[in-house]
Amino acid sequence: MGKSTNDARTFGFSTRAIHDGYDPQDYHGALNPPVFLSSTFAFPSAEQGGQRFAGEDRGFIYHRVGNPGVDIVERRLAHLEGGEAGLLTSSGMGAITAVLWTMLGQGDEIIADKTLYGCTFSLLRHHAERFGIKARFVDMTDPAKLAEAIGPSTKIVYCETPANPNMRICDIAGLSDVCTAHGATFVVDNTYCTPYLQRPLELGADIVVHSATKYLSGHGDLLAGAVVASREIIDKVRFVGVKEMNGAVISSFDAYLLMRGMKTLSLRMDRHSQSASRLARVLAGHDTVEAVYYPGLEDFPQHDLAKRQMAAFGGMVALELKGGFESGRRFMDALKLVTTAVSLGDAETLVQHPASMTHSTYAPEERARHGFTDGLIRISVGLEDYADIEADILEALERLNRSGLSASA
Ligand SMILES: *Cc1c(COP(=O)(O)O)cnc(C)c1O
Repeated sequence: MGKSTNDARTFGFSTRAIHDGYDPQDYHGALNPPVFLSSTFAFPSAEQGGQRFAGEDRGFIYHRVGNPGVDIVERRLAHLEGGEAGLLTSSGMGAITAVLWTMLGQGDEIIADKTLYGCTFSLLRHHAERFGIKARFVDMTDPAKLAEAIGPSTKIVYCETPANPNMRICDIAGLSDVCTAHGATFVVDNTYCTPYLQRPLELGADIVVHSATKYLSGHGDLLAGAVVASREIIDKVRFVGVKEMNGAVISSFDAYLLMRGMKTLSLRMDRHSQSASRLARVLAGHDTVEAVYYPGLEDFPQHDLAKRQMAAFGGMVALELKGGFESGRRFMDALKLVTTAVSLGDAETLVQHPASMTHSTYAPEERARHGFTDGLIRISVGLEDYADIEADILEALERLNRSGLSASA
């Protein structure tokens, strides 16, 4: 395949996730590209060095602004997202802050959805105003609510879909229309779906951000983030946001591991989605369970929108047990195979309690206002045999049932 994949969008998703942007003949036939452990890059001449700094020559300068091994993964991910250019960072928060710090200044406003990853929420709720940036939170499950709130100082509109942790879905195309009409830049965090399940740029978003720590890398062995957008935006975020503001540079090794994980992205997302769909259905019928939030369930309030926007419904399931938080804690402690840990998208099935863990950045009354309860449990359904995942979870619920806790509420 080699070189031909570089210019062909016609190959399927899995083929591009494996081959795109790399020709083994460029490096002695090595099936996998080398890891370039070099902080700096020699200029062919002093003049060319100057041209690189002036942006007239695209050659490498210094790892903080680019590295050939990292570049392969950036281009591959950009093609998978349907974007012009990509940028990898040392974490998802590194990607998000690089974008926001590049695009926002004093007096600007950002409008974000009500439900966000805990640290993104905290950045906007607690820290943005220290820099003269106004952050507002609007229910973006309804584009009309954004249309009411958006104004001339709104520079950025930001959402996750499905949102972490309660699985609410935002209508990307509908929100994009509102942003376009008001000249705001629309940023979508695509961590939960990855480009295999959802491509926000094709639906009208301007910028996609990722925690590549999660499904994109898929093995829980690294932290990484990504931004995909037009070449113009990526150049700005790279040369201002990362180079001069947050320095959130990915290491060569982590970029290599991310590339390795991405080769199996489609296989993994299919399995995550299948197992999560089965589990959501089983949990929805269980007598210890108050509610299950999974976009693939027919009675999920935004099931039709999810079907239009996503190729499958992903591997994340949220649920509320009867008896609230106390039941949730007992449930997690009763699990034997499933691991209690934050993060998501790994081979291992992980369970956590947003109110006391990932989303403890929300005050209790904020959690209620922003749409998730103290009893919510988040499950990242892993790649183990489905029967083993289900058996472990049902046994833990059975134990809970016997203890009578869930009946007390
Ligand atoms: C984990 C996560 C982040 C932050 O990513 P890090 O890689 O942990 O910095 C951002 N958004 C979502 C939706 C996440 O799940």
